[in-house]
Amino acid sequence: MKARYQYRFYPTDQQRQSLAQLFGCVRVVWNDALAFCKQSEKLPGYNKLSGLLTQAKKTELRQWLSDVSSVPLQQSLRHLETAYKNFFNSRNGKRKGKKVGMPKFKKKTNTQSAEFTKAAFQLKKDSVYLAKIGDIQPVWSRELPSEPSSVTVIKDCAGRYFLSFVVEINPVNAVAKNRSIGIDLGLHIFAAMSSGEKRTSPDYSKSDRKIRKLQKKLARQPKDSRRREITRIRIAKEHNRISDTRKDFLHKLSTKIVSENQTIVLEDLNVSGMVKNRRLARAISLQGWREFRNLCEAKSDKFGREFRTVSRWEPTSQICSDCGYKWGKLDLKVREIICINCNSRHCRDENASRNIERQGIFGGSFPQKTPAQSRHGASARL
Ligand SMILES: [Zn+2]
Repeated sequence: MKARYQYRFYPTDQQRQSLAQLFGCVRVVWNDALAFCKQSEKLPGYNKLSGLLTQAKKTELRQWLSDVSSVPLQQSLRHLETAYKNFFNSRNGKRKGKKVGMPKFKKKTNTQSAEFTKAAFQLKKDSVYLAKIGDIQPVWSRELPSEPSSVTVIKDCAGRYFLSFVVEINPVNAVAKNRSIGIDLGLHIFAAMSSGEKRTSPDYSKSDRKIRKLQKKLARQPKDSRRREITRIRIAKEHNRISDTRKDFLHKLSTKIVSENQTIVLEDLNVSGMVKNRRLARAISLQGWREFRNLCEAKSDKFGREFRTVSRWEPTSQICSDCGYKWGKLDLKVREIICINCNSRHCRDENASRNIERQGIFGGSFPQKTPAQSRHGASARL
């Protein structure tokens, strides 16, 4: 199966210039092609667009496109073709997951990227040679698992540069340690699991405060001023820090959960329907739940696991996960409860996660009703 391995690099001044030129060309090719697609009655395919690119290079207006490697420009056209395909498949329901919108025009201020296929890059001992850019020295934070089939150069909004390789990796952990797991996602504790484990979310409050301060500063600074630009980059960097920490946390957690369990049950969170809140911390956790769900679902596919969701309307926190006794709505402040029917003591979130698991596996029915049986009786009978 395919995976991406990403490494940071620090270009020389010369490389920085060459890359800026390349990114500009990739952007122009994409935007020209997209404009052409928009005014065409029948959507042109890659071959047609590629022919147009060859023609365009012969005109005075676009001849500078020949100054950069042609491979990333052609890849840009392939990406556009894929973007259209994804859009159509998403619209007619062939593609599951998040809705994909129409391809958009690329802006100079967005993240920039250029893809090199095998013919246009070469892996050397410590460096990577890119056609018409030169040797790039990435920070090899981990070893490449196999020969990459392509590499994408990325410059993000905060001005950081990355090489992102596509490599083939062997699927790991064919057999899961456990049959199933239920996970309750929350604000207080990010994930409470039916296995009894809990994970709290990383603390973003420091970055949160910094961003709010910088945004106030930004609002006071005159438009198009140099100092405003500096503030904008500082804000982008702080957002990057949050998103890097979050991604790292979510990736590690989802990999662990999916590799260890055969069936993963999550609550179906209708995140977009939730109450909007201005506080960043809350916005981040909402974003985190969505990302976590997507990661678990995608990784379940790759690991051959089953991913299930239960309706968020199920009263998962109102029922005893041992005996099924319904105690009703609990105040958010109540973190622990003792069931008056079977006398078992529950942590609120863990109890919810066990109900989520049961709901996902047994469809809500209780496989055993006698309070004498231990809470592990359910999984033993699976
Ligand atoms: Zn009970």
